Amino acid sequence: MRDLQELVRPNIWSLAPYSSARNEYAGREARVFLDANENPYNKPFNRYPDPLQLELKEALSKVKGVRPECIFLGNGSDEAIDLPYRIFCRPGVDNVVAIEPTYGMYKVCADVNDVEYRTVLLDDDFQVPADELLAACDDNTKIVWLCSPNNPTGNCLRREEVVKVIEEFRGIVIVDEAYSDFASQQPLRADLGKYPNLVVLNTMSKAWGCAAIRLGMAFASEEIIDIFNKVKYPYNVNQLTQLQALEAVKDPFEVDKWVRTLLQERARMVDAFKLLPICNHVYPTDANFFLARMTDAMQIYNYLVDRGIIVRNRNRVKLCQNCLRITIGTKSENNELLAALRQYK
Ligand SMILES: *Cc1c(COP(=O)(O)O)cnc(C)c1O
Repeated sequence: MRDLQELVRPNIWSLAPYSSARNEYAGREARVFLDANENPYNKPFNRYPDPLQLELKEALSKVKGVRPECIFLGNGSDEAIDLPYRIFCRPGVDNVVAIEPTYGMYKVCADVNDVEYRTVLLDDDFQVPADELLAACDDNTKIVWLCSPNNPTGNCLRREEVVKVIEEFRGIVIVDEAYSDFASQQPLRADLGKYPNLVVLNTMSKAWGCAAIRLGMAFASEEIIDIFNKVKYPYNVNQLTQLQALEAVKDPFEVDKWVRTLLQERARMVDAFKLLPICNHVYPTDANFFLARMTDAMQIYNYLVDRGIIVRNRNRVKLCQNCLRITIGTKSENNELLAALRQYK
């Protein structure tokens, strides 16, 4: 890996971050808060939240096995996807390399930040050799984006190839593990200590059932997390989200139960789809969704919409012609989908 200073934009490296009222008395006991121009009434909403979400990070640290200093929390993964562009990529100069097809936000944020977005097409098994990704990089490539399990394909990328990219690329490698709770592979965040250029993304939106509260995570070296914290909005995770996330983290066994149920349902749905005459192929999945190649994705999608059932039409996405992406729902929701598809003519 190149020196972090060489990778970070010069204006960010030298940035003096906003200093909020609450981080200036740091650490000492306080009882009377007359520093932040808050209203003393209307508890518990009147106070600014902890800008570094320390209590929540302590709790997440235990569940995720990552030190609190190595955790960034943001307004959904969206924030954790946007920040690396603002930190590392000089607009109009630097570029990033990503797989295709993959999650759409990496490209949207590249476009917003005026950063060239290069793609390497996956093969027929939705895999990519490390060498192809490395060959797409040049001296101005700051980030390689990987997503495993990948959205919309559902599969995990081969670990040897991912590790090879991390070891050989001299910039930042971001691996989005939004769906790792559903995967059989060990999550990469467990190896964070080995790779100073690795950033792993997690979210509370999927297995944890908290898409509404908007909480995303990045795990990386303390040095990289410090820069995330310097660039983010001071109070980027609001108090309601912090409180609700703390509640959720108290009960990880509930999440395990959901995951087990969803995996059972996933197996049942995949088997059922394979028997549908209108389904030509079901791709292997390590996520809480699967990709199915249909006889006519457009027509089937519209047929389902007419019955109030919404799936994701991926027909227009490269390598996904005639594919629908099906999220695993409750047993009765899944049964409704199957019943409708069995009646399709
Ligand atoms: C759903 C999803 C996320 C979650 O994004 P949030 O902003 O945290 O809700 C992140 N990455 C991928 C690949 C996803 O599919």
